[in-house]
Amino acid sequence: MSYVDEVIKQVIDQNPMEYEFHQAVKEVLESLRPVIEKNEEKYRREALLERLVNPERQIKFRVPWIDDNGQVHINTGYRVQFNSAIGPYKGGLRLHPSVNLGIIKFLGFEQIFKNSLTGLPIGGGKGGSDFNPKGKSDREIMSFCQSFMTELCKYIGADTDIPAGDIGTGSREIGFLFGQYKRIRSLFEGVLTGKGLSYGGSLARTEATGYGLLYITDEMLKCNGIDIAGKTVSVSGSGNVAIYAIEMAEKLGAKVITASDSTGWVYDPDGIDVAALKEIKEVNRARLTEYKKYRPNSEYHEGKGVWSKKTDIALPCATQNELDLEDARMLVDNGVIAVAEGANMPTTLDATEHLQKSGVLFLPGKAANAGGVATSALEMSQNSERYSWSFDKANSTLKNIMIDIFHNIDDAASRYGLEKDYVAGANIAGFEKVADAMMAQGIV
Ligand code: NDP
Repeated sequence: MSYVDEVIKQVIDQNPMEYEFHQAVKEVLESLRPVIEKNEEKYRREALLERLVNPERQIKFRVPWIDDNGQVHINTGYRVQFNSAIGPYKGGLRLHPSVNLGIIKFLGFEQIFKNSLTGLPIGGGKGGSDFNPKGKSDREIMSFCQSFMTELCKYIGADTDIPAGDIGTGSREIGFLFGQYKRIRSLFEGVLTGKGLSYGGSLARTEATGYGLLYITDEMLKCNGIDIAGKTVSVSGSGNVAIYAIEMAEKLGAKVITASDSTGWVYDPDGIDVAALKEIKEVNRARLTEYKKYRPNSEYHEGKGVWSKKTDIALPCATQNELDLEDARMLVDNGVIAVAEGANMPTTLDATEHLQKSGVLFLPGKAANAGGVATSALEMSQNSERYSWSFDKANSTLKNIMIDIFHNIDDAASRYGLEKDYVAGANIAGFEKVADAMMAQGIV
């Protein structure tokens, strides 16, 4: 059995039921095959892959909190500190009822390579809880966040592990978490990113993942002789990533026709009204059913179906495994040119394969959505210098990083004779730097 197959088998045997983690490991290791095979003996002797797929540390803790009626609830908190070979652990905190160890491990594993691709000195980590922020009052959110941080603060720090937002963790939650960290540790330091602008946040962080997704997609299209202006774009999700992806796609002259949330999706033949979307989701925290009130010409549909409309570019920006084989077939049949992942692992393995085999340009999340963590690292730099950059400086730095990521992954794919396979390119380019650092630091 090859070294890659051995390690995939070990991961499945040793981490039963962690399906998303198995999927992420398979996707990465399969595409690293040519790199591993070139150095198989050396990597095997140093157990490099085993060390890569085993987190350096995983923390699981109880989070008791009290609701507005005085009822006590218990949730589970997680922080997986996956790999610190190239810098302190960095990755978001997800608050969603679906959260379990396997999901946090898949996200933390992906984060290692994504962070490496940014070219910035940040290692991989991820955390979160099965707490559901939906329908909770601000006081309940604060009660949860304070309790969560009371335990988490023992393991993080500005030079150790710097969490950020993710699904369910926006600026409100980051504020409560930061306040509690500062109170317990008596330290005003850049321990979290995605902070408010009045206490150390970076301009352009809110927009970064969505804007970055469009900067890299635009670069990929340009390098393939395609102009994004005038193209039709389908987006899923209506959260932080989706909103700013839609905004930038429209700035670049494309027409975005869909958005979705966890209950349904909208189709707007005239182009999504991003101001309306921001009001519904960012201000009123309401459902997408509200969208029709702003745009009577639009349609609202319950459930799945966001990929059923004819489109040139698809940008899945909601959650993992939201674009499956059936969706991929529909997109291909409708002539899709490119798919770029705003969310983490939104495309199933068989759907990715179908898209790539059908000649669709496919950008994986670890490259396409790296703008968020890249700007988080820029926030860390600003916090260290006790200084704030202008929006233009942060945004232009982000744009350059995204363009560099594209060329980096394009080159890595070509070096192994895998032209235009950006999945392989991203995994190879991300892996090379981490592997080199791990080998240099000895068996740790
Ligand atoms: P938000 O919580 O702001 O938005 C998530 C969106 O996806 C919402 O519209 C939500 O619907 C929808 N959604 C969530 N879970 C499901 C589900 N199970 N089924 C269908 N729809 C769902 O999160 P973000 O925009 O921050 O994150 C979206 C994705 O991007 C995630 O995969 C995240 O890991 C990834 N990402 C985020 C980064 C960031 O900077 N924010 C950086 C890199 C990656 P509803 O409104 O109903 O909750």
